[in-house]
Amino acid sequence: MSAYADRLQALATAAADRCTGCGKCFEACPTAREVGLDAGEAIERVAELSALTRAGGRVAGGLEMWLNACDGSARCSTACPEGINVRQWVTIAKLKAVEASRPAEQNAISAANRFRHMAQAVRLLASMQLPSETLRRILAPAEKRTADVLFYTGCNVLRTPHIVLNVMDILDALELDFDVVGGTGHCCGVYQFMEADLPTYERIGHRTFQRFGQSGASRVLTWCPTCTKNFDELEKDVEAPSFDLGHVSEFLAANLEVLASRFKAEQPKRRVVIHEHLGIGATVESIAKLLRAVPDLELIELPQDSGFSYACGGVAAKYKEREAAIHRGLAEAAVAAGADTIVTMYHSCHRAFAGAEAVYPLKVVNFTDVIAEALGRGGHPDYYGLYKKGGTMDEAVAAARSFLQSNGVKIDQASVQSLTADIFNETGLAGPRGAFVNAFSELARRG
Ligand code: SF4
Ligand code: SF4
Repeated sequence: MSAYADRLQALATAAADRCTGCGKCFEACPTAREVGLDAGEAIERVAELSALTRAGGRVAGGLEMWLNACDGSARCSTACPEGINVRQWVTIAKLKAVEASRPAEQNAISAANRFRHMAQAVRLLASMQLPSETLRRILAPAEKRTADVLFYTGCNVLRTPHIVLNVMDILDALELDFDVVGGTGHCCGVYQFMEADLPTYERIGHRTFQRFGQSGASRVLTWCPTCTKNFDELEKDVEAPSFDLGHVSEFLAANLEVLASRFKAEQPKRRVVIHEHLGIGATVESIAKLLRAVPDLELIELPQDSGFSYACGGVAAKYKEREAAIHRGLAEAAVAAGADTIVTMYHSCHRAFAGAEAVYPLKVVNFTDVIAEALGRGGHPDYYGLYKKGGTMDEAVAAARSFLQSNGVKIDQASVQSLTADIFNETGLAGPRGAFVNAFSELARRG
């Protein structure tokens, strides 16, 4: 075992040592119920988790179902009376279970396939929506940066790059010395960890984290909830970093006084509902606090299923029906409550919700759209939202043509097909996919 694997094992063993076996974590787990595991089995399942942690070996059937069901909601950690980070414990146990279930070469193949698929989609979508100088700025090596603050985007937000541009605008408004770092060259390694390819994870995710330290930054602001969760649980707890780490929304909320003093008084009147996800630090409270400070914005609080997963998509995407019901239920409740806007927290949620504009009388924006606009900045087009709504594509195609040219990237019919599947097979509300296919097939043909 590597030193890193030893330290993960030590974290899991410490959790097992502190655990009293009360079962409250399992009782609180929404996805265990989703796959049919009864709350009455809690003591048994937790005993199996402890046994796997201490002795390894074959994974009991009930435990295997629990581990496979986990979508990272963190309801277990919140429920634990001992304050154990049960989500972290379950994540490490899941790694062990995958390791025990198949040969290591298979782990590496599965991880590489998932990474390749993601990287291709991100590269294409970013090249269709961002000029080359901005992409180059984001992709430059982290350890060569000199700013005191790093804004770490992760990979997948580059599918909806207007969010990155908004955050950069907001940090500019704070007059902060920051660099932006992201893309697949700075991946958090989630696929390698999930597929139990630990040697590659160490070369990717672990290395990305070390590069932050090498830059000399005192603070790293994360965007992606998955990266935030991974770095919190698999890096920060393994070895104390030389920098502070936290989600950008928490940083902005902590600096609200300065931000609010720079908000423009004249703002569009709107009644908004946040599509909430618990599970990543204080992001829900932080985003609500930011929105409440925006002039002429009324925040409507609705009861919602915010504890099912820490974000839309990702692992939660395997519960397609439940996710779709959550999205439809929230959109309908928002309309009934007289809201005109749904505000998304993260990029994967934004992708899932962006197409709702084609179905409901609602606007869908990310919270960064609202804050950047309140500062008199922002206004970056949400091309992904245009793809997903399925209306006229002229603006999106014209932008893509010029950005693809500036990035030296060409799309062909195969890329249009794979992008269509990527965009429209995701859980979420959407308009007709034909508009995207036709417009971008034409672009692929004619350039
Ligand atoms: S993180 Fe959520 S889904 Fe995973 S075990 Fe804990 S409660 Fe269940
Ligand atoms: S809630 Fe905490 S103490 Fe109770 S079984 Fe789960 S991890 Fe152990």
